Amino acid sequence: MKVRSHITQNEALLFEMGSPGKVGYQLPSLDVPAVDAVAALGRENVRAEIEGFPEVSEVEAIRHFTRLSTWNYAIDLGLYPLGSCTMKYNPRVNELVARLDGLAWAHPYQPEALAQGAMEVMARLEAALAEITGMDAVTLQPAAGAHGELTGILLIRALLEKRGNPRKKILIPDSAHGTNPATAAIAGYTVENIHSTASGMVDLAELERVVDKDVAALMMTNPNTLGVFDDNMAGVAEILHKKGALVYMYGANMNALVGIARPGDFGVDVMHLNLHKTFSTPHGGGGPGGGPVAVKKILEPFLPAPRMKRLRNRWAFDYKRPRAIGKVRAYYGNFGVIVRALAYILAHGGDGLRNATVDAVLNANYIRRKLEPFYDLPYTAPNMHEVVFSDDRQAKLGVRTGDIAKRLIDYGFHPYTVSFPLIVHGALMIEPTETESKLELDLFIEAMTAIAKEVETDPQLVRSAPHSTRTSKVDEVGAARRPILRWKPRETGSQTAD
Ligand SMILES: *Cc1c(COP(=O)(O)O)cnc(C)c1O
Repeated sequence: MKVRSHITQNEALLFEMGSPGKVGYQLPSLDVPAVDAVAALGRENVRAEIEGFPEVSEVEAIRHFTRLSTWNYAIDLGLYPLGSCTMKYNPRVNELVARLDGLAWAHPYQPEALAQGAMEVMARLEAALAEITGMDAVTLQPAAGAHGELTGILLIRALLEKRGNPRKKILIPDSAHGTNPATAAIAGYTVENIHSTASGMVDLAELERVVDKDVAALMMTNPNTLGVFDDNMAGVAEILHKKGALVYMYGANMNALVGIARPGDFGVDVMHLNLHKTFSTPHGGGGPGGGPVAVKKILEPFLPAPRMKRLRNRWAFDYKRPRAIGKVRAYYGNFGVIVRALAYILAHGGDGLRNATVDAVLNANYIRRKLEPFYDLPYTAPNMHEVVFSDDRQAKLGVRTGDIAKRLIDYGFHPYTVSFPLIVHGALMIEPTETESKLELDLFIEAMTAIAKEVETDPQLVRSAPHSTRTSKVDEVGAARRPILRWKPRETGSQTAD
């Protein structure tokens, strides 16, 4: 007999539930003459029947989605060690502030006179980010990191064009994220990769060789995706500036720098911040993000319109920007994210932000020390806020980073970042962030240690993980190659999952 339990929550598709004619709404009876839909809209616009349309009651729909929502792993449930992504806990005060009626319901086309508070929020965030990064001006428009880097490269192109030659190439270190070459290509540049040294930094000698009059900029993440801070940065910037090229810094890893070091002070010309990483906006699931771009004075004239302008006693939008690259986003960016970032910054204050950075670095290094006896660490340079192991030792026993990540699910954790950055063979990339306690870190370390031991005693157990979930290993290649995107009614009409 098939048993349907709310505990194991085996859940049929909504389309497979319910029965014909069941509805989840109640409408009052019609008090105007009925209109024939086909006559009014035309036959081609009216469907006689929607195949497989779910016919369920309100409570069935609510329970279905509520049950599904409990299947999700979330930062509110436990450590989310995805590296590069900076999945940290979001203090609820940010949410409280973002939901204040005057901010949450502000309309982007509200007259300036009625939007002074919202404009003040944006102006204060711009000023705070300029101070944190050591840059001269900030635009809040870009909606995410990838969007910010495109904006930044378009700014560089605009400046170089004005100087007479937009140039041809963007240099990108081999530890880069895939968004970097994509950005360069969309902005009309070719990409040249430069190698990292054994300690994971930019090779200055190679850089000196490849920077010429065709290079528009170097685009790098610092600390890079190995979690290594490139302390040659001033030298790197000097080589580029000498040849009239610029330095773009990807700000995804600012969680390791805020309050400690300012990119504007070590030669960076333009950078962005991922508000949904460093400044505590809920992250993941594709929700709105923020990728403000911060620039040195030379790039300010090209920032997208409108810019905020302080008149004698009020804020105004300045649309008269003849050299601007145009708008990169409707209105002024994702306003709710802007509010959360400012709330986070003000709640922490300068000392609090610095402490967060110090704790993030401490937590990553604690994990590094505790797991180093069990996993290979190919780049042994001092780590910052994330640490990247390799699966080399486990691979000899036939277990790969993806298997270890799946086994971690059985221990109750979300997997770390698998197989990135690409320059580490079989990467296990772990970023705990400052929001985790020692207790939680120890649980994670225990799980990772136990798995390393399982690999030695019972590799098949790890290879076939996860074992505690509704579905174990899925055919990922099949799902990518032969996706089934259209639901078809089941022939049997079965209403229960088995
Ligand atoms: C997160 C991240 C990106 C992408 O940023 P989005 O804000 O998701 O667009 C690119 N590069 C690195 C190194 C990152 O960590």
